[in-house]
Parts: sequence; structure tokens; C-alpha cells
Amino acid sequence: MRTNPQASSPGGHPGGARAGLVPCAGVARLVVPLVLLAAACGGGDDGGGSTEARIAGYLQPTPFDRLVFEVDHVADRLPRSQGEDLVVAGVTAIVDKPGGVAIVHDDVLEPRGGAWTYAALQELARATYDGQPDAATVHVLIVDGRYADNPNVLGLAWDHRHIALFGDVIESSCAGLEAILRPGQAERACDRTWMAIWAHELGHVVGLVDLGAPMQEPHRELGGTHHCDDESCVMWRTHDGSDLLEHVRGRIDLTEVDLGFDDACLADLAAVREAASTADAGL
Ligand SMILES: [Zn+2]
Ligand SMILES: [Zn+2]
Repeated sequence: MRTNPQASSPGGHPGGARAGLVPCAGVARLVVPLVLLAAACGGGDDGGGSTEARIAGYLQPTPFDRLVFEVDHVADRLPRSQGEDLVVAGVTAIVDKPGGVAIVHDDVLEPRGGAWTYAALQELARATYDGQPDAATVHVLIVDGRYADNPNVLGLAWDHRHIALFGDVIESSCAGLEAILRPGQAERACDRTWMAIWAHELGHVVGLVDLGAPMQEPHRELGGTHHCDDESCVMWRTHDGSDLLEHVRGRIDLTEVDLGFDDACLADLAAVREAASTADAGL
């Protein structure tokens, strides 16, 4: 049985079992990204299959021609609608899904607040993930409160399925941009921040960087995490934190929808997509 790729742990997690989960956390205001290795998988409720097959299923038109984000969220913690529109448009451009990309608001979660441990997030994911009919499904939890290991974390991704987004932290982070932006730009900044953190964590779900999507050229950063070595790329190692805001700030006035992956990351995704085309053609 294949397991997910493993990552080294920059912070050191003594005795951390390598059990095939690579949650990857974006960190605000900290230089060192947080990559955890968890001992317990607890999966089996979400379809199984190899990592490669799961990643291919998100990017290729088979076995399902639709990609759905199943969003379970605390009330009032959804992205602004423009943020969701940007996500759908941006993801549509990087996947081969003739049936389209959609965001489905599923369960409304009870406000909980406080600190979330990784184990608690896993438990929530197990309890709330349904899987959408006839669609490759990415599970997105939008929670209140903060991540226990680091209160500045904006998002996590694990098991090539689940994403947790810390709505309050994202909102407070992008709100900090208001002070330095022209009037009218703040809303766009928050929309773009939601899109960027969503894109970063989705990148991990679909195997970036060197996390299941084979690198077409070396571009994994040297610190041992699954991030890109291009600071302009949304998969840069701190681009789900304060540096992400700088990333967003430089892109607020863009009119086109672009998730922010650089050419190297896009090439990795294209290679997975094209493998499907070859299969479809019977070559
Ligand atoms: Zn990351
Ligand atoms: Zn990249």
C-alpha cells in the first residue's frame, strides 16, 4: 500500500511517526512554515485509493468530470462571495473538468472558538466529510478559533482531501491591509487573500510541491517542506501567512483571475492532467 510522501519536520517533532499524513500549515508572521507529521491517519472514510489516483482524480476528467469543494463552515465564516467566485474561476483554469468546478455549502458547524489541535481537526473532518455525488471532492472546513500549535496559521491541508481554513485569522490578517491601501482596495484585498490561501492549500491537496505531483523540474524549496522555491509563487513557503499578504498586495489590481501558481507549479499540474489525456486517447 502506498502512503503519501513524507516530509521532514523543520521544527522537530520527536518521535513523530511517519504515517502518511502531511498536514501543511501556513503561518502568518512567522518565517518558518509549520509542517506536521501525524501518527494517526484515521482515514478510510473518504474513498481510499492511492495518493496518485486521488491527485489525478482532482485534475483529470475521469473518473468524475466535476470538481466540488464541499464546504463545512461555522456560520458567518464563509469567504466573501467574490472570494468564492475567484476560487471557482481560478480552479477551473487549472483542472480538466468539463462538468465544471463548484463550491457547495454543506454543514453549518457550531461555533467553537478556542484552539484547534490537529487531532481535533481530523476528528471534525471525519465527522463532516460526505463526498459529493459524481464529483471529485475536496473537503474544506472553515472554522473559528485558531490553530493550537500556532495561532497565526491561516490554513492546513492533509491527506490530499481536507483543508482547514481559520476564517477569523484570515479576516483579521487581510483587514490589516486596509490601513495601507486605497479606499476600495480593502475588499478586493480580502477577496484575493481568501483566494490565495485557498489556492495554497489546494496546491498541497493536489500534490504540490513534490507531494505526489511529480516535479517536472526541481523547484521544491530546500528547507524540507513541500513548498516552491519561487517567492512570487503562491506555493512559496510563507505564502499563507504575512508574506501571503504581500503577495496579495502586489496582485490586487490584476483584472484576470489567477490563483498565483508559477510556471514550475503549473507544469507539475499540467503533467498530471496530460497523463489523463493520454489515457483517454488510448495511447
Ligand atoms: Zn503550505
Ligand atoms: Zn511554484
